[in-house]
Amino acid sequence: MVKVAEEWLNICGGCECSILDIGAPLLDLLPSLEFVHMPVLMDHKYHGQTGEGDPNVIEIPEADVGIISGGIRNEKEKHVAEAMRKSCKTLIALGSCACYGGIPALANMDSLEDLYTLVYKEGKTTEPSETPSQNLPPLLDRVYGLDEVVTVDVYIPGCPTNPALIVQAITGLLEGKPFEMPERSVCDECPVKRQEKAEVSLKRPLDDAEFDREGPWENTRCLNEQGILCLGPVTKAGCATEDAKGEKVPRCIQGYMPCRGCFGPIRKGANPMVDMMGALSSIGLNPREVEDRRATFNRYIGAQNRLRPLPKRPGV
Ligand code: SF4
Ligand code: SF4
Ligand code: SF4
Repeated sequence: MVKVAEEWLNICGGCECSILDIGAPLLDLLPSLEFVHMPVLMDHKYHGQTGEGDPNVIEIPEADVGIISGGIRNEKEKHVAEAMRKSCKTLIALGSCACYGGIPALANMDSLEDLYTLVYKEGKTTEPSETPSQNLPPLLDRVYGLDEVVTVDVYIPGCPTNPALIVQAITGLLEGKPFEMPERSVCDECPVKRQEKAEVSLKRPLDDAEFDREGPWENTRCLNEQGILCLGPVTKAGCATEDAKGEKVPRCIQGYMPCRGCFGPIRKGANPMVDMMGALSSIGLNPREVEDRRATFNRYIGAQNRLRPLPKRPGV
């Protein structure tokens, strides 16, 4: 029996839903797993069930596998991540928030001070108020990816991830086999037709792409070539699932939407912003027409110091 502990830090909860989304294969795994800690499922307290424990020590039961979703935004999440690392032999970062900070790390484009001002003093829909501080864990200076605070053994990116990857990772751990995702792009798994040349300039982000919904995927032209920004060329493959006809197709393309880059860079250290500007130029598009390029190309990966506040211009 493999003991599993799971924690959620700076998250939306979607990654926990992706565990439930495993569906029937989860039933095959469950007899081999014993969940010893999982706040989304069980009421396991950090300092003893009645608060009798040491308030300065976070108690996480010992486990063979630890799964953490969410990045790290405040002191409490940092301590929980450290306690998980201490208690778990193998630690999995589940989802792009844990792997790269995810959507919450877009806030790394602003300083903490500016965020407090924006939210509590200048919010257009709220009365100005003092920044709350009592009984709350202090925020860190920015959002951190899990591996900036503790050592991570296995990365399963995606927002949320593909449930099949969770099964592959856990099955691999049960069988003592390493789990690593291939260095391939979403485009490598996309069946649409490419002609390596855009037929129009870039369109507005919410414009619709043209899809042949009845015919084979080859009847649909690559979205970038249609002028619809698609981050497939610079995004790690892994989200593709079988469509109604049994063909493997990236998740957003299957939903008639462009890739937004949620699986993160194809390989560690890659720079999707530079690479994507090159990919657009190579088919004749002007990357300077992409609005808010820093945020758009780093939408899910703002931790690890990829997104930082820009120096303020005098008088701004
Ligand atoms: S990776 Fe996406 S689905 Fe998972 S917790 Fe973060 S925002 Fe939610
Ligand atoms: S850019 Fe988008 S639409 Fe074009 S091949 Fe890549 S994933 Fe498919
Ligand atoms: S197509 Fe892109 S944005 Fe959509 S699930 Fe796959 S990696 Fe994520």
